[in-house]
Amino acid sequence: MLDAPASAQLVQAFANTVDVECGTDELDTAGKLDAWLRERDLLHGGERVHAQDHALCLRMRAGIREELGAHVGDHTDPALLHEATEALRDLPVVVTTGGDASGVLAPAPHLTAARKALAALAIAWSELAVTGEAARLKRCSEHACAWVFWDTSKNRSRRWCSMRVCGNRAKARRYAARQTTGKTVE
Ligand SMILES: [Zn+2]
Repeated sequence: MLDAPASAQLVQAFANTVDVECGTDELDTAGKLDAWLRERDLLHGGERVHAQDHALCLRMRAGIREELGAHVGDHTDPALLHEATEALRDLPVVVTTGGDASGVLAPAPHLTAARKALAALAIAWSELAVTGEAARLKRCSEHACAWVFWDTSKNRSRRWCSMRVCGNRAKARRYAARQTTGKTVE
C-alpha cells in the first residue's frame, strides 16, 4: 500500500504551505492560518487563531520541513528542530480509547480551539513517525524547489519530487561542475 495515508496527506499539505520556488507562504499571517485550518475542518467555532498560535505553528512547520529534508540525506539545522520540539510542548495530547474512530490520540481538552487544531497536525505527524511511514515523506533534494512529496518507490529511494524536473536539474548542475572543475559536487 503505497498511497499516502490521511495523516501523510495532511502533513504534506501543511509542509507545502510554503513554496520555496515561488517564494510564497500560504500561512504568512494568523488570519491565513485561521482560514487554512477551517478549510481542513480542523478549526471550528468563533475562536480565532492568535499571533502566538501563528508563531508556534511556523516553528512547528519549520522543524517538520527540516526533518523531511533529513529523509533525502540533507543535514538538519538542530536549532530549527529544537524550536519545533519546544513548540510541540505547547500542544499536549491525551491518549483515548479511540472509540470515535478518530484515533487514540486527541488534543488535550484544556487547549484553545486554535491549539487543538495545531495539536491535530502534531498528532498526524506523530502517527507517521510511529508507523515509520514518515520515511516516505520527503523534502525535495533540489533546494531551490524543496517541495514535500510522498515517495511511492518500493525501496523509498527517491530524492526529488520530480525526476523529470528536479532530478535532471541536479544532474545538469553536477555535469556542468565536472566540466569546469573536474570535481563532483552535490
Ligand atoms: Zn523538486
